[in-house]
Order: sequence, then structure tokens, then C-alpha cells
Amino acid sequence: MKRKIRRCRCKNCNDLFKPDPCNLKRQKFCKKSECKEASKRYSQQKWLLKPKNKDYFSASARKLSEVVLEFAEPLIDAADGTVDEEKAIRMLITLWNASLLAKQKGLETISPALDDMAKGDQILSSEFHSIFDMMYERKQNYFSTDNRFIVNYSLEENREGFYLQVASTPMKI
Ligand SMILES: [Zn+2]
Repeated sequence: MKRKIRRCRCKNCNDLFKPDPCNLKRQKFCKKSECKEASKRYSQQKWLLKPKNKDYFSASARKLSEVVLEFAEPLIDAADGTVDEEKAIRMLITLWNASLLAKQKGLETISPALDDMAKGDQILSSEFHSIFDMMYERKQNYFSTDNRFIVNYSLEENREGFYLQVASTPMKI
């Protein structure tokens, strides 16, 4: 009995190759190492294009400075031009980083900064603490997949307003 040996054309180098019998339908690349690499890239791209996987990298694909400014919206509204931008941004960065931690830990981290800003004023201090609560919730509710820890930032003023740049590192939780 004659058996037809199937051959496939490699999608990377275009050579004919004999596919692995266990993998007849799925194998689109030959065994050369560069074609194995190409195969890996191909399946990663295919995976990313599936709608359910789209969000996987989108959090880290967005510029963190944009994400942080969106996170800051209620703060900016509340500040209403009364706090100077430099201070507000510094507070914001501290809030963002503290929100990456478990709540108690985050509070411990941010408390000195809050007390420093309140300068012994109890009412102000409790106000700042409730801002932390609000921002912490906001982070968990809307930005929970973004775990980038801000290690550095710069704020420049230009004609269009302030321009924020941040440098970050992924936070392992
Ligand atoms: Zn090949």
C-alpha cells in the first residue's frame, strides 16, 4: 500500500519539509532554528490578536505618565488650582506607588508625607488620609492591572502646560 508523504512549505524560509506526524495540521514552520524562532513570534502575535488577550499587555503598553494623570483626575478637580502643581505631582506619585502595596503597608509608606503636608493640623491630616483612601480605592477599581512602580519623574512647564515624564519598573507583588 502506497502512503502519501505529506510535505509542507515553511512559512519562514519557504523550504519544503516533512512535518512531525503528531503535529500535521498545526506545523507551519520547519526545524531550522531561525524558523523555530519565527514560529514562536508568529504564535505570540496570533495570541495577542485574539480579543480576549488584548488587555494583557495594554496596561503596560500605555505611557505611565498618561495613566497617572488619568488616575489623578479627582485630585486635580479637588485641588482646583489652590495647590501648586509641583507639590500636587509629588503627592500623586507617592499616592500611586503606595497604592501598589497592600493597604496597611501603603498607608505606612505615605503617612510621613501626609503628616508633613498637614503640618500638625488634625483636620487637614484626616482630610489627607481620606484622600489616600479614595485614591487607593480608585487604583484598585480602575487601574488594578498596572503594577508599574515609579522610580523617577520630571515635570517641565511648556507653553501647553505641564509635561510629566515618569520612569518605572514593574513591581513584583
Ligand atoms: Zn524554515
